[in-house]
Amino acid sequence: PFDVLVIGGGPAGAAAAIYAARKGIRTGIAAERFGGQVLDTMSIENFISVQHTEGPKLVANMEQHVAEYGVDLMNLQRAERLIPAREEGGLHEVRLASGASLKARTVILSTGARWRQMNVPGEEAYRNKGVTYCPHCDGPLFRGKRVAVIGGGNSGVEAAIDLAGLVAHVTLIEFDTDLRADAVLQRKLASLPNVKVITSAMTTEVVGDGDRVAGLHYKDRHHGTLHQIELEGIFVQIGLVPNTEWLKDTVALTLRGEIEVDDRGETSLPGIFAAGDVTTVPFKQIVVAMGEGSKASLAAFDHLIRLPVP
Ligand code: FAD
Repeated sequence: PFDVLVIGGGPAGAAAAIYAARKGIRTGIAAERFGGQVLDTMSIENFISVQHTEGPKLVANMEQHVAEYGVDLMNLQRAERLIPAREEGGLHEVRLASGASLKARTVILSTGARWRQMNVPGEEAYRNKGVTYCPHCDGPLFRGKRVAVIGGGNSGVEAAIDLAGLVAHVTLIEFDTDLRADAVLQRKLASLPNVKVITSAMTTEVVGDGDRVAGLHYKDRHHGTLHQIELEGIFVQIGLVPNTEWLKDTVALTLRGEIEVDDRGETSLPGIFAAGDVTTVPFKQIVVAMGEGSKASLAAFDHLIRLPVP
């Protein structure tokens, strides 16, 4: 069995595995797609001490770093079921879609999250070419340009406020008749001169020149009329969905499906830890996920050395 079994191979999982393996204990990673969201990222400019890199390059570096420590990396393996140990100190089991079953004394869950998409024509084609999901990551790339934020919940309105300080103009598009963000955020938004809010609007298409986004089309849901906005960037903020469907009925999740963790990455079950975008930890970023992964791994080690000798 593994001492530490990491499920998920994004920045959180890679960091957790490296920290565990450096303790000289048996460490494994099972990941559906090693690299996670970072594989889908073009330009990364906030990975501290590296001024600029690209997702696939960072993933290759992560993989090399993991490989240096003899971590058992099981890529292209999807976990389907977690069966926690029945008694303290017993073995946890993780069943994979391939039919295999892995056993471990501690498990670190780091299956990440995915951005909810609009599912309209042009969105996929212009992803990373004007369509983006992360204002903290890509906001500065649109300095002085015109952008739209799709979604009027807290994350959409926060993004619009954030972007208004960087870009020339922000159009916030909300499907419903009202914004759903906290009142204090809405007041702040209303005070900004370069933000326009459009409610009851359904985005229907992202358009571009073949290389870059040039605008979007939306439908006025009251009057049924079609409209067009010219712009250079679209920030989609309609939700981040944690990859925890397979964990229902095991560890405690919030209503939004995030794994509840304490400040050591402990979940509701002893010996099961979690880190990164899949958890309740705020701010979903690479450096945050790596920090949380390292922390959960050290907490798992702490847990292991306290277990009765088998
Ligand atoms: P993830 O990266 O989501 O990794 C999850 C891992 O779990 C993957 O290996 C996945 O295959 C695996 N997995 C999922 N389900 C299962 C399962 N059932 N069984 C086994 N494995 C499973 N952050 C920045 O700091 N800077 C940026 O510039 C930046 N740009 C971004 C651009 C884009 C397009 C996106 C989508 C995100 C960006 N982010 C950026 C956010 C950053 O990528 C995430 O915060 C970070 O990757 C989270 O790491 P994680 O390890 O928690 O999860």
